[in-house]
Order: sequence, then structure tokens, then C-alpha cells
Amino acid sequence: MYRTHTCGELNENHVGQQVTLSGWVQKIRNKGFMIWVDLRDRYGITQLIFDAERSPKELIEKATSLGREFVVQATGEVIERESKNPAIPTGNIEIVVSDLVVLSPSKVPPFTIEDNTDGGEDLRMKYRYLDIRRTPIREHLIFRHRVNMEVRKYLSDQGFIDVETPYLIKSTPEGARDFVVPSRMHPGQFYALPQSPQTFKQLLMVGGMDKYFQIVKCFRDEDLRADRQPEFTQIDCEMAFVEQEDILRTFEGLTRHLLQEINGVEVGDFPRLTYDEAMQKYGNDKPDIRFGMEFGELNQVAQHRDFKIFNEAELIVGIAVPQANSMTRKEIDQLIEWVKRPQVGAQGMVYVRYNEDGSFKSSVDKFYPAEDLALWAEKTGAQPGDLICVLSGETQKVRSQLSALRMELAERLGLRNPKEFRPLWVIDFPLLEWDEESGRYHAMHHPFTAPKPGQLDLLETQPSAVRANAYDLVINGNEVGGGSIRIHDQATQKKMFDYLGFTPEEAQAQFGFLMEAFQYGAPPHGGIAFGLDRLVAILGGQETIRDFIAFPKNNAGRDVMIDAPATIHQAQLDELALQVNTEAE
Ligand code: ASP
Repeated sequence: MYRTHTCGELNENHVGQQVTLSGWVQKIRNKGFMIWVDLRDRYGITQLIFDAERSPKELIEKATSLGREFVVQATGEVIERESKNPAIPTGNIEIVVSDLVVLSPSKVPPFTIEDNTDGGEDLRMKYRYLDIRRTPIREHLIFRHRVNMEVRKYLSDQGFIDVETPYLIKSTPEGARDFVVPSRMHPGQFYALPQSPQTFKQLLMVGGMDKYFQIVKCFRDEDLRADRQPEFTQIDCEMAFVEQEDILRTFEGLTRHLLQEINGVEVGDFPRLTYDEAMQKYGNDKPDIRFGMEFGELNQVAQHRDFKIFNEAELIVGIAVPQANSMTRKEIDQLIEWVKRPQVGAQGMVYVRYNEDGSFKSSVDKFYPAEDLALWAEKTGAQPGDLICVLSGETQKVRSQLSALRMELAERLGLRNPKEFRPLWVIDFPLLEWDEESGRYHAMHHPFTAPKPGQLDLLETQPSAVRANAYDLVINGNEVGGGSIRIHDQATQKKMFDYLGFTPEEAQAQFGFLMEAFQYGAPPHGGIAFGLDRLVAILGGQETIRDFIAFPKNNAGRDVMIDAPATIHQAQLDELALQVNTEAE
């Protein structure tokens, strides 16, 4: 038997017992007459002691030869510790070792296995198995496991069935490029890895499964923006005979359950904002509502004076930044520089100081008297002591610029408390979104999303006005999940494909199976998918999903530990009937 106990469980109740522990050497202190070794495993750290005067020479020699991260088995008696360590559960005891076996020696690790390691991210990723020995990473993986289990428990209790769907499939359009896998048995043909199990879960509904879920890997070959992974995990769900309301209620329940079980937080009913409201109030379809600073539109109260910039703007919109009147001129100038950075792209920023005494001082005093500025304050909800920041220009751009400013200011003012959770639904998304590059409309969610009842005809006349029963779950400024009610009849689906620019042949080749299935009694259905990596990171109060993934890829999509992607042998290429165009590399 390698161990009688773990390194995390012994305490004063075990004093006098003979025990055997196995684990990694965390730390060694050798004072000559006494050697102390911290032994670590998944469960904790226990102090071993070797008494040079009372132990056989070989035992002391063996203890002296230990290095960091050696794997050892130690047997001895549990005794009460003289200098106790209240910081750890085993801090009241130690083991006087009588027998020591080195199970596996270790090279000196390339970084310290400590909570605050000296290892940079690249090094830690290359030796991820060592990184996983560190408490924060280990705890994150255990945390993820707990979330996972609670999801399974909740959904299973609600009657959802976990069904696996295949990975070697055909393209599922979720808006990214496919990862493709060449087929050896069918030279020149390729599988695509699923961007999501979308079509399969719909087919499960046609198959009568009624309530499906799966915790599943999805693959999207996108240029990686910060903190995205080419393979990621979804909690993927679908239900039959449901309307949007049924789905929102079910998954609000799941989210509430997780917040309760994992974070011990009770949240009330989730607010709902339509997409249009979210854009108008926050300039963003995933608003962070932990703090206010709602947008106040100022066109009506700012376009009647001689200020040309505002008079020519499609939208003038401001936010009241709480207690920010105390900002110095220099700080405000820096803020103006910040909004003018190319990443944000504003032309400039007008500001109004709302002084404690009720007076105003603005950067446009020349054009606007105090009674105008008082109206701006009213529209933005400003209080004395606030600073009103105003941007203007083309509606969509200004909204996204002011949204960026709102988030930046919230960050600077410490308003983004990771321990606070403010979930909301954003509903009624547009069905379509204009794509500059291809010069046509694309499905905003995916092409299986149903337009709202009665809006199909608008497709021809006013495509951008068509709304869908499509919804996102947003927590603290992150889109955590998204889904929709689906089209479940062949004619509408055909029309959609046609509208989105698929020729009938393409639609048939790619999705013929789905349209065929719709001819055999397809129930009304809809669903949702949560990004599990992101959800876990948010519940864990963290920003980076990489920390919650055992073996993540880096920002260039590489696994630096196993060194993938990699070239393959010519023989493999030949078998797959593939030729690599080296010039394209
Ligand atoms: N398949 C969708 C996605 O991955 C989710 C859904 O519509 O259920 O975003």
C-alpha cells in the first residue's frame, strides 16, 4: 500500500499513529541534526521530520539526498508539532519518519512549484504537468469539476439526457472556419470538426429525445483574439415543444443553481433587455450591469446651439461617471487621449464637471450655458460630484466607443467586483447582420434560427428589422450562453438558406439531411449553449479561461507542451492523398 492517508488529512487526533504518506517533496530544510521535509499531494502538505541523532545513518543519508519534486513514500509516527502552523490543516502535527522510499527522483524543476511561481506563462505551459501541481491551477481544475458535476446534476434532474454526438462531421456554420480532417478511406474527402453540435441536436429533437444536453468540445478555426481557444467546451442543450420563455426559465434555473451551489450567491429574477435596449443603454449587446453609467442620449438637448461637431453628429451620447469630478485636468486629458486611441477610435470627448455646489464647468462652455448642461445632467442621470463624458458621431461607432469608455472607467474606479454576479438576458436579437466584406447579410446567430412569427416577409423589404427569438445569457459583461428558437419546417429553412446566399445545390449538399429530416415530423424546438470555460472562469472570479483548462493552447493556437500542430510524415500524406504546398507556409 503506497499510503494510509493523504498529505492533507492528518491532525492532532492522529497523534501516536503509524502512517504512510506518498507525495512530492515541496521543500527541504536541513539543519544537520534535524531535517524537515514538506511532503505535498493533491490534498495538502504534511511536514516530515528526520531526527539525525535517533535514526539509522542510511535513513538520514537518503533524506539528505532528496531534492525538490522527488516522489517519496514515508512511514512514521504522527507527533504533535512544537511550532505549530495554523495556516494549514495539518499544521499541528508532523511525522517522525522511520522509513523512506524514493519512488521517483526528479530533475530540478524549471520553475518553483509555489502559488507565486517564478515561471513565466510560456514556461509553465511547456511544463503544464508541473504547473498543475501548483495550488491555484489544481484548485481551478477541481473547481471546474464541481461546476461540471452541478451542471450534470441539475440538467439530469430536469429530465435532460446526455447524448454524445460525433466529432467527424460536415461543416456546421457558426461563423468561423472549420478544422478539417482528411479521410484516408475516401481520398480527397474531408470531415469537418464540429463548430458546435447544432444540426445533431436538432436531429435529436426530430428523433424525439425531447431534452438533450452534452458537455462537449467544439472547434473553431478563428484568428485568435485574446483569451480564445480553438477548441473549447460548451454545455450544449436543446429542447422540443418549447417556446423562448420555456428555455429562458430552464436555463435561468441552471444559472441560479450554479451561483447558489458554487458561489453561495442568491440572485433574483434575471432582468431582460432587448438587443435594441442594450445597444441604446450600454452600447453593447453584453452589458455589464454591476454598475450604472447608463447612456443618456443628448441630441434633443445639444443640437440647438452653434457647436458644429454636435450639430452634424448622428448621435450625441453621454455617461455620468460617479464621483469623477475630482479628476484633475491632466487625468481628463489622458482620458481624452485614451478614447482617441485607434483601438477605440473616437474623434474627441466633451466633458462636463458637475460641481458639488450644483454649478457646471464644461469643455464647451463657449457654446452651452448652464441651463443646457443641467439638461445633459438630467439625461445622463448625473449627480453633483460626477463627471459627464460625451461622445458624438455615427450611431453604431459612438455607441461602441462610449461602451469601451464605460468599461474602462468602471475598471479604473474599481466597479467591476468579481465577487458580484449580475446575470441578465439579452433577447430579440436581429436575425441578420450586415457583413461589409462580403457585401451581404449573414445570420447573426446561425442559419437555423427562426425569425419571430410573422416577420419572414420583412426579409425582402427590411432585412435589418427582422428580429429573432434569439437570446444571450450575459454575466458581468460576458456572453456566457446563447441560443434561439429554430426553424422547424423545410420551406422556411430553404428560404433562409436562399436568403443567406446558399445556392439550392449548396444548401442541399451541406444541409440536405436536415431539410429531409424536417419532412418527417419535426417538433418545434429551440436551445442554447453555454461556453463552459468562460462560465467557470467567471464563477471562479477570474478573467482568463486558460487558467481553468488543463492543457490550453497559447494565443497562436499552439500546444507548446506537445508541440502541436506539427508536420506529418510523407508516408502519411501519401496515404491521405495530400500534397503540401510549401510555398504557402
Ligand atoms: N450552436 C449555438 C452556438 O454554438 C448555440 C445554440 O444555438 O444552441 O452558439
